[in-house]
Amino acid sequence: MPEKTPAFRPLPPGSVIGMLGGGQLGRMTALAAAAMGYRTHVLSPEPDSPCAQVTDRATLSSYRDEAALAAFADTVDVVTFEFENIPYETVAFLAGRTTVRPGPEALAVCQDRLREKDFVNRLGIGTAPYRAVPDLSALADAVAAIGTPSVLKSTREGYDGKAQALIRSPEEAEDAWRRIGKRPAILEGFVDFACEVSVIAARGADGTVACYPVVENRHRNHILAETIAPAKVDPALAAEADSIGRRLVEALDVVGLLAVEMFLTKDGRLLVNELAPRPHNSGHWTMDACPTSQFEQFVRAVCGLPLGPVAPWRPAVMTNLIGDDAAAWAEILAEPGAKLHLYGKTEARPGRKMGHVNRVRPLTGD
Ligand code: AMP
Repeated sequence: MPEKTPAFRPLPPGSVIGMLGGGQLGRMTALAAAAMGYRTHVLSPEPDSPCAQVTDRATLSSYRDEAALAAFADTVDVVTFEFENIPYETVAFLAGRTTVRPGPEALAVCQDRLREKDFVNRLGIGTAPYRAVPDLSALADAVAAIGTPSVLKSTREGYDGKAQALIRSPEEAEDAWRRIGKRPAILEGFVDFACEVSVIAARGADGTVACYPVVENRHRNHILAETIAPAKVDPALAAEADSIGRRLVEALDVVGLLAVEMFLTKDGRLLVNELAPRPHNSGHWTMDACPTSQFEQFVRAVCGLPLGPVAPWRPAVMTNLIGDDAAAWAEILAEPGAKLHLYGKTEARPGRKMGHVNRVRPLTGD
């Protein structure tokens, strides 16, 4: 189903992509855009952001400054975003002035864990069992319904395990509520998964969908450590993951990318954990192993161009460089088959994603 906005016209090279958010996902999108002859103008509240280091233009502004947003909208041909915690009002404001892809409604669903899970379940796609916990008074009933162990997550603004707390027994529930900051939350049953997997589905402005193959994601301390691409799962499961990605990207009417993180249970079921309507860390391997990287695909979709081929050339393993890991850059550069990507961040704080390395099996190694 084509997007609901009026008929699209492909944006020719030379057009300006407006990017909300200044992180590494915006940076790698801007680099892909530049390789295709497009310009990028980033708006973010962070000075010297990874994205602003590589764009044609940068506006340093709060996401709430309507005068700055209006001026930004006047300089760009299309707007997109690189993380889902941009305020809905910001994206809705810009959508009243220019084309925004994906649109504000997809963002609204993906930035709220409760809406997201409701949306997924309404399509008949599985998730962990869950209950809304709008306030403390709802917590005991939710724990009784879901049981323990379970995971309490704030409905908004949590990522990489932030604002989440494990509840091992009902007595721990109140403490968990305090630990997540006493915010509206969702209680999820703890899934004893076999592994975590994800797919990235791209959807063009004409409604065409292309889905990268399912990959396996290994986390350490709730942060993605490694992606194995493609995942070593049976073909029926890979086809099911693909179908989930396609159905969700269409149902959300996304023009752009949708990353779908899933648990693969020990009895072979796929349960959706989280959606992200943007490029995703678990798609970084595509930069060196696929004919079209996720970032090029994102640019193609957002600019109304035909999508590119996604079938991988080679298997790959992506390893995140977190905190001090990036200090090994010289050794990584010397390693055959390793491709280093650094994000231009000066301070290597613990848990901070500084870069990643894609290891692609060399042809001679077959
Ligand atoms: P999230 O922020 O929801 O992506 O969660 C971060 C990580 O916490 C996931 O990648 C899982 O490793 C773990 N996790 C989150 N929710 C659950 C759950 N319901 N059951 C088991 N592990 C979970």
